[in-house]
Amino acid sequence: KTADVPGVPSAFVDQLHEQGIEELYPPQAEAVEAGVTEGQSLVASVPTASGKTLVAQLAMLSAVQRGGKALYIVPLRALASEKKAEFEAFESFGVSVGVSTGNYESDGGWLAEKDIVVATSEKVDSLVRNGAPWLEDLTCVVADEVHLIDDRNRGPTLEVTLAKLRQVNPGLQVVALSATVGNAGDIAEWLDAELVDSDWRPIELRKGVHYGQALHFEDDTTREVPVRDGEKQTAGLVRDTLSEGGSSLVFVNSRRNAEAAARRLGDVVEPFLDSETKETLAGLADDIRDVSDAETSDDLADAVAKGAAFHHAGLARGHRQLVEDAFRDRTLKVVSATPTLAAGVNTPSRRVVVRDWRRYDGTGMQPLSVLEVHQMMGRAGRPGRDPYGEAVLLANSHEDIEELQDRYIDAEPEDVRSKLAAEPAMRTHVLATIASGFARTREGLLSFLEQTLYASQSTEEGRLERVADSVVDYLVQNGFVERDGDELTATNVGHTVSMLYLDPMSAATIIDGLESIAGATEPTTEFEAEETTAGFQTFSRSDDGTEADDGDGEAPGVADTDIDKPTPLGLYQLLSRTPDMYELYLKSGDREEFTEVFYEREAELLGPAPTEYEEDRFEDWLSALKTARLLEDWADEVDEDRITERYDVGPGDLRGKVETAEWLLGATERVAGELDLPGPVTVGVREAKKRVQDGVREELLELVSVREVGRKRARRLHDAGIEDREALRTVDKSVVLAALGDRPKTAETIMQNAGREDPSVEGVDPANEVVADGE
Ligand code: ADP
Repeated sequence: KTADVPGVPSAFVDQLHEQGIEELYPPQAEAVEAGVTEGQSLVASVPTASGKTLVAQLAMLSAVQRGGKALYIVPLRALASEKKAEFEAFESFGVSVGVSTGNYESDGGWLAEKDIVVATSEKVDSLVRNGAPWLEDLTCVVADEVHLIDDRNRGPTLEVTLAKLRQVNPGLQVVALSATVGNAGDIAEWLDAELVDSDWRPIELRKGVHYGQALHFEDDTTREVPVRDGEKQTAGLVRDTLSEGGSSLVFVNSRRNAEAAARRLGDVVEPFLDSETKETLAGLADDIRDVSDAETSDDLADAVAKGAAFHHAGLARGHRQLVEDAFRDRTLKVVSATPTLAAGVNTPSRRVVVRDWRRYDGTGMQPLSVLEVHQMMGRAGRPGRDPYGEAVLLANSHEDIEELQDRYIDAEPEDVRSKLAAEPAMRTHVLATIASGFARTREGLLSFLEQTLYASQSTEEGRLERVADSVVDYLVQNGFVERDGDELTATNVGHTVSMLYLDPMSAATIIDGLESIAGATEPTTEFEAEETTAGFQTFSRSDDGTEADDGDGEAPGVADTDIDKPTPLGLYQLLSRTPDMYELYLKSGDREEFTEVFYEREAELLGPAPTEYEEDRFEDWLSALKTARLLEDWADEVDEDRITERYDVGPGDLRGKVETAEWLLGATERVAGELDLPGPVTVGVREAKKRVQDGVREELLELVSVREVGRKRARRLHDAGIEDREALRTVDKSVVLAALGDRPKTAETIMQNAGREDPSVEGVDPANEVVADGE
């Protein structure tokens, strides 16, 4: 019984009762038994949708009740706001909640006041780097989706962050929530935690494989699910669910497939809709069109009007929210999604169809992991709403039925393995560990690394040491760390790089590029790949002793006037060469096109360019150039639609690239400041940053700084002769109105934002008649 839980505020228990939660689910009861409400560390490895969040809530609230402070680490930013909204109910009984997102640099001082803080692992890592003092007050840390430690890109940050928090805070309670994995015991051992390892589910989950006209369940029963001529299996399954009043979630392997499936499935859903639902859906479609004017927006709205939608990471944030909410309240009947939705967003559905169980990984089609497929399947069935959940895989042949049963239905999920040894991860985290003072010596570094899951899983004698040493060598060679005997200290640049959250290799690339403008280094710095004994590839700048290469950033002896400002394209291409900007792939035909661009614009590119004979490097430069051209188009005011079409990306991808470029240019500006580079370099960086930030040419920069003036409005105003803030204040109102397409409210707001005294008065300033003439 929930009433029996010791140590949590009774008001919370009341809230649970109001939500209809009367009894703990068995894994939750096990967790309480194991001491999760008394400060005991715990790993809970239980299936999706089996109530892990409540285990975390019990732990955090009991910690706060004892006068402590809790941190909830989420894997995705989108989940941070969702969790915060969920936890805000605690404020009614006096437990305060804060969420820390965005801005990597601040130490989030205001969070010191909060009882519970929600943040992504990246954010927590940066708080640790910035030495946020309140971290020492933490008594309880929850790591959601801890199995993501296995993720090559994001796993190491979570792993290192947990290790650091435990080092700062020896008695810290760690509650790690995981999907069912093969080796939950290893994680528990690493964290000195109790283990709840269960496959209990709140609602029956029936798993099966569809082939031909029938669904074959794991218990050897079958159900007829007809598929009409010329139709796909998924259509038949969705219709079958609809005929029973249920909704379906269809997982596919790419964004494009998600969009195509939604389009087709809309036609299956439409005949089932009553007029009231149709009206609601039409309203929802309008809301979707309002969020953004890109093409995806229309595609999504069209599907939504028919009761179907697609969901993937390329969607605008507003779109994602609208789709999730409408699916949860059952207005939408089908969502076709890439697996991002399975990872944490609570959107259960009567039936889950795992349509694609293979995914393109850059080299070929690879089967998904059992863990991933189980997480998708786990979204089937809403307790209390559906009689049961059904998860279906699709077979193309009779033999496939058995293959799929063996591979996913009867199989155990994989083990979680640390990915910390991956090169960018080690580079970044070792620098951060030294810069933030976590380790001041080689010994200190090694003993910190010993605290990681990587160390506890590593069996090869001496490997950790070798990897650590080769990374330190790299950092020393690039001027980020100084080594004096056993002592390790970060240089000023090293500190800056760590605080800015840059991959040291990105920083080294940027520094080389900027210094090449300054002239003194000419093409003297070069990257060399070397293979170390640990099989760990490092890249180091060869040191030929030129003055700019010693990393202390003395300005080379060249007068500012001799130096050309770098162009935006040059800078965008430089950033796109760093591992922090995931560049666009070259598609067929791109190679020729961008080779041409390369020769046309070579003079603008920064640093020693490869020749066509250095195939891999040349290819990298071309894909970076493609990314740079996308950013340049954006900064040249090319339409969003044109860009997404030209580069074959979603609007969300475009946003992502623009945001990354903004961040990297901000970082570049800081690094440039540290190196004392000549004036024109810094000016060029600042300009390139502003232009990519607002997506405008230089002459519009002032206008877009007025609130409510975006790239399109700024261009219209400029075309009408209004070139700056001053003009917005003084020009005849009719000119502004005409420029903005006769929308008086908008025009007034904008004029007011520009500092106009009373925008409702028809301002006639004789001095501006020349401009008004344009009418
Ligand atoms: P997980 O994190 O394991 O994927 P959630 O914590 O999101 O799952 O829980 C899924 C749903 O189950 C939520 O809607 C939650 O309110 C509900 N739930 C959790 N615990 C209980 C319980 N003891 N009794 C009834 N419903 C519960």
